[in-house]
Amino acid sequence: MSYDVVVIGSGPGGYVCAIKAAQLGLKTAIVEKRATLGGTCLNVGCIPSKAMLHASEVFHEAGHSMAALGVNVGKPKLDLKAMLAHKDATVKANVDGVAFLMKKNKVDVFTGAGKIAGAGKVVVTGDDGKDENLETKNIVIATGSDVAGIPGVDVDIDEKIIVSSTGALELAKVPENLIVVGGGVIGLELGSVWQRLGANVTVVEYLDTILGGMDKSVSKQFQKMLEKQGMNFKMGAKVTGIEKGKSGAEVTFEPAKGGDAETLKADIVLVATGRKPYTENLGLEEAGVKLDDRGRVAIDGHWKTNVDGIYALGDVVVGPMLAHKAEDEGMAVAEILAGQKGHVNFDVIPSVVYTEPEVASVGKTEEELKSDGVEYTAGKFPFTANGRARAMLATDGFVKILADKKTDRVLGVHIIGKGAGEIIHEAAVLMEFGGSSEDLARTCHAHPTMSEVVREAALATAFGKPIHM
Ligand code: FAD
Repeated sequence: MSYDVVVIGSGPGGYVCAIKAAQLGLKTAIVEKRATLGGTCLNVGCIPSKAMLHASEVFHEAGHSMAALGVNVGKPKLDLKAMLAHKDATVKANVDGVAFLMKKNKVDVFTGAGKIAGAGKVVVTGDDGKDENLETKNIVIATGSDVAGIPGVDVDIDEKIIVSSTGALELAKVPENLIVVGGGVIGLELGSVWQRLGANVTVVEYLDTILGGMDKSVSKQFQKMLEKQGMNFKMGAKVTGIEKGKSGAEVTFEPAKGGDAETLKADIVLVATGRKPYTENLGLEEAGVKLDDRGRVAIDGHWKTNVDGIYALGDVVVGPMLAHKAEDEGMAVAEILAGQKGHVNFDVIPSVVYTEPEVASVGKTEEELKSDGVEYTAGKFPFTANGRARAMLATDGFVKILADKKTDRVLGVHIIGKGAGEIIHEAAVLMEFGGSSEDLARTCHAHPTMSEVVREAALATAFGKPIHM
């Protein structure tokens, strides 16, 4: 078989690259070792987690906030089996959708583990052990990432008692106590799911703030909100051991700055300490493809590895491990392979935490601007002063806008609030076009909407004063 492009890995980076390459007239194949297409994101990541986040949020609302709106449904009864079935059906619809798109775009799909056997050669080994040899002008490595362990700690993730995100999406019953090791996006999202369903959740985090890398004012306020919801935090805590017992497990940790160790017991421990690039058994060493100092496939500014004809993108390369970043890279690489000028603006990649309320941000944090020595103005507006938020009993949170002091160009937008993950895109579009806070402040926003808070924050940034406060 001879191709213009063979993509290894069918996550959002790989499958989007394959579709775009085929749309641009390249003869394209995709290789996936999992039985279904869609990668981590569709099978065990973004999609199933959002199905569980939504369902658990509805359950929680039914038991907590609906009565205040005059909707009294009594004490809701959890049918976890049905909730998990909803999640599985959502995953199936999405992975089937990708299979359909492959057919529609005439991308050949090979099921099996892909290995690079030199530039222009990929061997696919199926479950039956049989090899298929593909010849291609270009190879795109889109093999994604895998669960990272805890540095220096030997953990046996059995996906039953000590689980990764994959096991945490399939718990057969609600744990009484859940310990989440790692206060990043995945840990907080999945911790929220099980807390809403009734678990007592404790997050053990090495750093002093959750969501490391987020704007500090956001992460501090967000932690307070989660604490108000009942989530417990052990901050600045270094996990030194996780021991499985007859039922449940024990997590031992000590202050990161030194001090006495503490041990907590739980029925389930979720290890959510991050993900590592997946480069195993790909034949990279034999093909001479270099990795960078963090084990990612090393690429230049155009996603090309050090070997001609071999490209890499998504979680396996530098940059935020996000599905939409991988997708954008997928499109850009396909365009480059088709002789066009593919490009991704890494300054405008939104990032969202799909808890309740949601947290969303795009661009620079205040801490980054300070350390880069950029002079900026900041404007902030709370959802408490927004009519729609009051009507929806969703007054938690704020919008914060950071703009260049001289040019007023918006450099970063940070939101905590209901629907923040949708609202953030008006900031992303504005920033993509190099817009200013005054542009945003002068843009008519429909009333009453949560998005009016963005405009009020822009008024505060551009003119020093919002209207409704
Ligand atoms: P992946 O999606 O990891 O896909 C890589 C594929 O390559 C896999 O299917 C793998 O089986 C295959 N593969 C690997 N090696 C080979 C080989 N040798 N041969 C054949 N196939 C191979 N991101 C977001 O943006 N939003 C979210 O809400 C979000 N939620 C998440 C929730 C969880 C619980 C997790 C774990 C992740 C989440 N992410 C989210 C991150 C997101 O899933 C990743 O950033 C995204 O999947 C990366 O895409 P990718 O194409 O690089 O790789």
